[in-house]
Amino acid sequence: MSKIPVSDSFYQAVEELSKDLYVKALKDLPPDVRVVLKDTYEKEETETGRQVLATMLDNIDIADSRNRLICQDTGIPIYFVKVGNQLSVDFVRLEEAVVKGCQRATVEHPLRSSVVSPFKRQNNQNSSGYRIPSINYDVVQDNDKVEILMVPKGSGSENMSFLKMLIPAEGVRGVKRFILETIAQNVGANPCPPYVVGIGIGGTADMCMKLAKIAAVTRPIGARNPDPEMAAFEEEMYNAINDLGIGPMGLGGLKTALAVNVEHAYTHITQNPVAINIQCWPARRAKATISFDGKFEVGY
Ligand code: SF4
Repeated sequence: MSKIPVSDSFYQAVEELSKDLYVKALKDLPPDVRVVLKDTYEKEETETGRQVLATMLDNIDIADSRNRLICQDTGIPIYFVKVGNQLSVDFVRLEEAVVKGCQRATVEHPLRSSVVSPFKRQNNQNSSGYRIPSINYDVVQDNDKVEILMVPKGSGSENMSFLKMLIPAEGVRGVKRFILETIAQNVGANPCPPYVVGIGIGGTADMCMKLAKIAAVTRPIGARNPDPEMAAFEEEMYNAINDLGIGPMGLGGLKTALAVNVEHAYTHITQNPVAINIQCWPARRAKATISFDGKFEVGY
């Protein structure tokens, strides 16, 4: 099968969209997140919980009406790039365009650059540096588009990331115990609840963490894992985490988790890995789909 060559306009569109999606994600909350926050507010029974949720809804309204960021933390920029296998794409040019777009968003908007080197804490003031923005690639079968999903990952939620290499004898019970104990004892109110809990199960240590990240940040709220066994596990953990009563901003209430999403992989016979990654209440993301000629559609 001959591949479809992409034009110069395609790479220009990738750069512009990598810029625009960063700003959009910071300002314009996806509809599914707006709906679940409003619904959570309406169902909350505690006075404190209602006050906290009302403040969050006010925050969203102000960001909308004044064209402001929803939260001051511009996060670590993460891009998930899916490339259709029918396209002939130069990955070096593609990556250059994504990085340039990310840098331009920061300089031209301007945004706070939240990215520093690990030891000297040097800030390039453009949200980029060695290996950042984080760019994750996937190839999609029978597809002739490129999809870019942009997620600004806030530090409060990213700092609440945990991995445990359980042994198989600990089974599913051990997985459940680790999740509930970690949320109750370590995560708690730190990542601005109510939050999305992403859980990775199986794979290798690094894959398990990545699965937890994908579960936390890429899925619209309300979408279930297509595997019935995993969907049932999501439901069980969703109810159990909300029964902990941590509540909005940790001040008590009905909702701690807006959603619990699980992504899984097969693993080694002697391993039983489980990972947690959290996305805070403004579950920010923005997406675009680009054709070979640079035409595009923007969404969430
Ligand atoms: S955890 Fe999320 S809501 Fe809280 S400060 Fe960080 S980015 Fe903002």
